[in-house]
Amino acid sequence: MKAEIALEKRDGLARLAEIEIDGKSYRTPMMIDFLRDKFPNSIDFGYAPYALKNIDELRYNILKSKDENFLIGTVCCTPRDVVNQLLELRLSSFKPLYAPALATPLNTPLLVYLGVDVVDNILPIIRGYQGIYMLPDSEFNIDTLKELPCSCSVCSEYGIKLKKLEGEEKGLALARHNTAVMESQVRLVRELIRHEELRNYVEARVKTKPDLTAMLRFADKHDLGTAIPRFRRSMMKPTTQESFSRPELTYFFKKSAEIYRPKSRTAVILPCSAKKPYMLSRTHRMLRRRVSFKGVCEIIASSPLVSPRELELCYPVMNYDVPVTGQWGKEEVEYVAERLAALLIKGEFEAVIAHVKGGYAKVVERAVEIAGLEAVFTCEDDILSSSSIERLKRALDDSPKEGFDLYLEIFVHMSRYQFGVDINGRPRGRYPNLELCSEGERVARIDMRYGMLDIYLPFARKLLEERRYWIEIADFEPKGTIFAAGVIDADENIRPNDVVVFYNSEFYGVGIAGMSGKEMIEVKKGFAVDVRRKERID
Ligand SMILES: [Zn+2]
Repeated sequence: MKAEIALEKRDGLARLAEIEIDGKSYRTPMMIDFLRDKFPNSIDFGYAPYALKNIDELRYNILKSKDENFLIGTVCCTPRDVVNQLLELRLSSFKPLYAPALATPLNTPLLVYLGVDVVDNILPIIRGYQGIYMLPDSEFNIDTLKELPCSCSVCSEYGIKLKKLEGEEKGLALARHNTAVMESQVRLVRELIRHEELRNYVEARVKTKPDLTAMLRFADKHDLGTAIPRFRRSMMKPTTQESFSRPELTYFFKKSAEIYRPKSRTAVILPCSAKKPYMLSRTHRMLRRRVSFKGVCEIIASSPLVSPRELELCYPVMNYDVPVTGQWGKEEVEYVAERLAALLIKGEFEAVIAHVKGGYAKVVERAVEIAGLEAVFTCEDDILSSSSIERLKRALDDSPKEGFDLYLEIFVHMSRYQFGVDINGRPRGRYPNLELCSEGERVARIDMRYGMLDIYLPFARKLLEERRYWIEIADFEPKGTIFAAGVIDADENIRPNDVVVFYNSEFYGVGIAGMSGKEMIEVKKGFAVDVRRKERID
């Protein structure tokens, strides 16, 4: 057997791909239907499950699957082991990962999130014969049901009479219903990957079972490396405790504190707004109309995000939506305060003005305590009331100020965050649709869709000189899409959705990566770069 995988779209470890097995093409994530398909005959399952590796590595190496094409992740252990083993396999290679006899409609979104490409209906069949009626978010003993909450062909055909069936007929009917539910879950997951929405969905779905919640928490303790994008088109919707440990969020906090170099010694802490970017919200606009923030730095606090004004156009600050209730839990206050303290320490601030109230004020109190600073609280009642504004103005008058251009600092911080290099030029345009120009040429612009910088050829040349986010391609004229087959070498720091620069002996240009740099080098097929602009080398 020969199997090859061609990536179409990544969403973290999950991927939408086309897999060719013995000349026949399938779309992954996929479910092998053991009631129908034959192709697993050609997969070498080995004699021992992957779980044996931790118990007896010597025997495992003799008995394991020797399959050339698939990683086979058989699992029969605790939630922690399932996660560790699947991730160990997933991060070891880009080959398709098949998890035999593990998937149910309930856990399929999570398994795919962990990088499983192929699942099967072995459990749905077994459970069917045991009289279990499976649904996307629950399971019932069929005999306890008064009606059937499903309209698959089996349920439509039998209706509630399904439970009156007997023996083989009943088992098979339930197996077919369970399979139909699984199949619709797999289709849903594929659609979620296309929309980059899998994590939002998984966080909601793992709540249906403590085991699944535990698995997601264990997964978040792993470093998933460059598969996790830094920029996304989709909204981040932090609604659960697990949202706080999202890899994207962890990356943002680490990186933003690392690259933060504020121009002023004074920090003003402001509350977030539902509208993004914050600066265009009603509250921030009214505040800025009455008070000048010239010469001081602003930090905006929310739950769970804390961001300098300089990064408010960056993902995920630009692209998140939280339930606003005004109530802060104790853990939430501590979580946000720690991140705010990290910025205050990194920024070496001397004066901290907190124009916040309620839960936000608790966050600032705790943050300055951690940072060993003191804050002036200027909010008496409403943040827009005359007395609050007067106090804020007085505090600002008494604080050190520095001359700088906020829009330029936005470009500088975003460039450091995204490429690790400084950028210079003259900002122009209407906020937030800004661009940066230098010597009459466009250098960069804010890409509001992804919350990142889009760059032009002058800056592409700089990145090529500094060997950052580069991709060496074979000698052809790049048009539209560059496939992995055309990539010779690439920067291993590249993540999916990153802005990259590609070159060969004749052309260079700018594009958006569809996969990580490591993946581009290792795989032979699939969508590697979406070309945005290019130029012939003189
Ligand atoms: Zn059904």
